[in-house]
Amino acid sequence: MKIHEYQAKQLFRQYQVPVPEGRPAFSVEEAVDAAKAMGGFPVVVKAQIHAGGRGKGGGVKLAHSLEEVQTLAGQMLGMTLVTHQTGPAGRLVKKLFIEAGQQIEKELYLSLLMDRATATVVIMASRDGGMDIEEVAAKTPERIIKIHVDPLMGIQGYQLRRAGFGLELPPAAMKGFSSLLANLYKFFVSNDCSLVEINPLILTSDHQVMALDAKVDFDSNALFRHKDLLTLRDLDEEDPMEVEASQYNLNYINLDGNVGNIVNGAGLAMATMDIIKKAGATPANFMDVGGGASSEQVENAFRIILADKKVKAVLINIFGGILRCDVFAKGVVEAAKKTGVTVPVVVRMEGTNVEEGRRILADSALNLTSASDLSDAAQKIAAAVN
Ligand code: GDP
Ligand code: MN
Repeated sequence: MKIHEYQAKQLFRQYQVPVPEGRPAFSVEEAVDAAKAMGGFPVVVKAQIHAGGRGKGGGVKLAHSLEEVQTLAGQMLGMTLVTHQTGPAGRLVKKLFIEAGQQIEKELYLSLLMDRATATVVIMASRDGGMDIEEVAAKTPERIIKIHVDPLMGIQGYQLRRAGFGLELPPAAMKGFSSLLANLYKFFVSNDCSLVEINPLILTSDHQVMALDAKVDFDSNALFRHKDLLTLRDLDEEDPMEVEASQYNLNYINLDGNVGNIVNGAGLAMATMDIIKKAGATPANFMDVGGGASSEQVENAFRIILADKKVKAVLINIFGGILRCDVFAKGVVEAAKKTGVTVPVVVRMEGTNVEEGRRILADSALNLTSASDLSDAAQKIAAAVN
């Protein structure tokens, strides 16, 4: 689960990770009030969306007067911000963060993430902050320091010093940096983060280090341990259909193609996407109804997929193990009746009670094409959309 910069910075503050003074604003008036509270200029007006690269897209601007704050806030609220991370459709800006401007001496990079290969928390630091870290990694990988922290040992003093020396910090900034990194590590572990990224981490002219940007991603599988964090979720930043699907415990990911898929099991979903791609069609989504789906869940899955305008045909690929084929077939028939299917539907079904399932579908008077196996299903669905 991602959160906004302003929320991440509030949490940083609780963990004694230095951040500039700032306030969120949801209207132009609030932005002006927040700027007044900063007690000086410049202030920075920052669009709050769950994507980076805002600066280049016009979502981070300096203001030198209240009038300028008013103008910039008016322009940013309601704008569609396009960055290299949002994709061409961009994101609608509904929230701002107003922050006291800082005297930047140097922009650095600092992040923490889980490294599954070594089962450690890896700290990445670079002198090249403020830029795209992927670009630094590609062109000058030697300028990125990686430090692996054993989660059972916790972060050690020598690791803090190694990061600080690697960043070539002046001695006067070393102590501040060590405590920032130690506190950031504590924040990361205590909240089951999967990523914390500060780009840029700045060094000010008076040798302070602070987080000028903040990107935080929590491990969704651990959120049950952090009920307080759930209030930080912003549904505006998520795909509305994915939000709806998550309410029914459906694993649904919206994609670009035009074949809607209903599958049980993530592995089968992957295989289905591969095989329809091979047959010359592209998936519009990934919908995994799960091993033990009820017919009501199947109905919801079908309804969500049919509501997607780009879906030109639906492929149902089910292996009935725990989910019995007859239960599944009932769900499909119910959903089809309620939503009124207007696109071709290809069904490939195998497993427990398959005969009963096929009979239910055949008796339903629905216009379904059945497929004998996976590759037959792929051919039929490709023919339906092409
Ligand atoms: P991003 O583009 O989404 O990563 O947004 P950032 O929060 O990283 O801001 C982008 C850039 O704006 C930073 O790299 C800084 O160069 C600049 N910036 C942000 N805040 C300030 C500030 O207080 N003072 C100055 N001078 N520049 C700032
Ligand atoms: Mn940034």
